[in-house]
Parts: sequence; C-alpha cells; structure tokens
Amino acid sequence: MSAPVVIVGGSLAGLRSAEGIRRAGYKGPIKVIGNEPYLPYNRPPLSKELLSGSGDIDEIYFPIKESVADIEWVLGQAATSLDTKEQKVTDLSGTSHSYSALVIATGLRPKPLPVNSNGISGVHVLRTFDDAVALRKQLLPGVKVVILGAGFIGCEVAATAIKAGCQVKVVARAHEPMEEALGKTLAKEVKRRHELKGVEFVKGASVFGLIGDGHVQRIILDSGVIYDADLVVVA
Ligand SMILES: Cc1cc2nc3c(=O)[nH]c(=O)nc-3n(C[C@H](O)[C@H](O)[C@H](O)COP(=O)(O)OP(=O)(O)OC[C@H]3O[C@@H](n4cnc5c(N)ncnc54)[C@H](O)[C@@H]3O)c2cc1C
Repeated sequence: MSAPVVIVGGSLAGLRSAEGIRRAGYKGPIKVIGNEPYLPYNRPPLSKELLSGSGDIDEIYFPIKESVADIEWVLGQAATSLDTKEQKVTDLSGTSHSYSALVIATGLRPKPLPVNSNGISGVHVLRTFDDAVALRKQLLPGVKVVILGAGFIGCEVAATAIKAGCQVKVVARAHEPMEEALGKTLAKEVKRRHELKGVEFVKGASVFGLIGDGHVQRIILDSGVIYDADLVVVA
C-alpha cells in the first residue's frame, strides 16, 4: 500500500484539504496529525457563545463527511520535524509518518505577551477550546480584566467579560477598535456600544510589565499608567 497523504494540522484547513483531496478523486489513505487532542472544531464560538456559556467541545465539532470518515487521526501530537528527502514527518512522541504527499495546515499562533511575565500567572490568550475554557472560568463578577488589543478577539472578549460583570479595560496601540477591519465609521460605533456597556478603551499604549505576587495584580503600561488587573488577555 502506498504511503498516505499526511496533513499536519487538524483544524478547518486540514479537514477541508482532506475533503478537497477526496473530491479530486484520491482514494488512498489520509492521515492527519494534530497537536490538539480534539477532532477539527469551529473556533469562532470560542470568543462568543462558548466563552459566555457552559458549552462543550461536542457542540462545536465540524461534521465529518462520509468521504473523509476513514481518515487516520493522530491527535495530541505536534509534528516536530520534516525530512523531505525521506518523505517523513516525525511527531513529538518520536513516531515517524511516511507520506506520499504532505499538506501543512498549521494555522497561526497567538502573539505572546510582548514582555517577560516573570512567571506571573493570570495572563491568557484565546486560540483553542482549552484556552476558552480556562478563560471563561475566570470571568466572574468584579474581576478586573485588561485586554491587550482591540481587534475582533479583544472586542469580543471585552463584550463577554462585561456581560459577566467584570470591570474591563481594552488597551491598544492605535486606532479605534477593529478599525483596520471595519473602517472608521463602524469602528466608532463598535466603540460607542462597548462603552455604553461599561468597557473602557485606553488608546496609544501597550504593556510595559506586570506586577504580582505569583498571580497578576497590576499591569504597567508603557505610557507609565498602572492599572489593577486580576486577569490579562493578550488579544
Ligand atoms: C477565538 C477565535 C475567534 C474567531 N472568530 C472568527 C469569526 O468570528 N469569523 C471568522 O471568519 N474567523 C474567526 N476566527 C478565525 C478562524 O477560526 C480561523 O481563520 C481558522 O481557524 C483557520 O483555520 P486553520 O485550519 O487554517 O488554522 P487553525 O484553526 O489555527 O488550525 C491549525 C491547527 O494546526 C495545529 N498545529 C499547529 N502546529 C502544529 C504542529 N506542528 N503539529 C500538529 N498540529 C499543529 C494547531 O494546534 C491547530 O489545531 C476566529 C479565531 C479564533 C481563535
């Protein structure tokens, strides 16, 4: 039997690639290597319904079409090296996977905190189901949340956090929230609506450092301003 088509990255692009390969007439084996422990799921709800509710992963899985029901899933394993001469991918466990063709569908990673956190906890990103579950547990009434970044994810987290009764500040280097994506007029309206609910926008600043005794207690901005913070979201 010929080596499978191997797809690295078990999310939307990985799944759609497999479906596309089948549509193009390939009938051989397909193997997907994904570093998350889940089958492909829909990420948009992570910053919306799933962040505010109690939803579980089952509710956001993509349906698996019959054409790709025979995929071999290798989940919870990051691909760590690639040998293009030998046509082999090796995963974190050291297992080698030969391929006849390779698709790399590894998406993006969130930008990390742009300063050293010195091991202080309470800093979150939002990319995976596990990130969303970890964050929503912390969005409790009265919690002081500082969100770095006023793009889609920053604004969505702000809206969810304020609904949960948190005190929310959104810190961004420039522009109105989501201005690059939506343009000035809509961005102003997004800002107005968020502010109406109690979200505070801090423009023209970024993080300089964190203060905390194990867990974050304050955030220092590069403008010199210091805010209390129980939770920092890097968005
Ligand atoms: C919180 C959130 C909200 C969003 N909301 C919206 C929205 O409202 N509307 C919209 O259009 N889009 C939204 N998006 C964007 C959308 O989810 C992405 O465009 C989409 O997930 C991209 O799919 P992808 O398969 O290319 O990458 P990803 O979904 O990032 O998947 C890549 C996968 O590859 C895995 N991987 C990475 N490296 C390796 C490795 N070495 N080995 C094995 N696996 C690896 C990753 O863990 C991940 O599972 C949102 C994204 C997030 C995070």
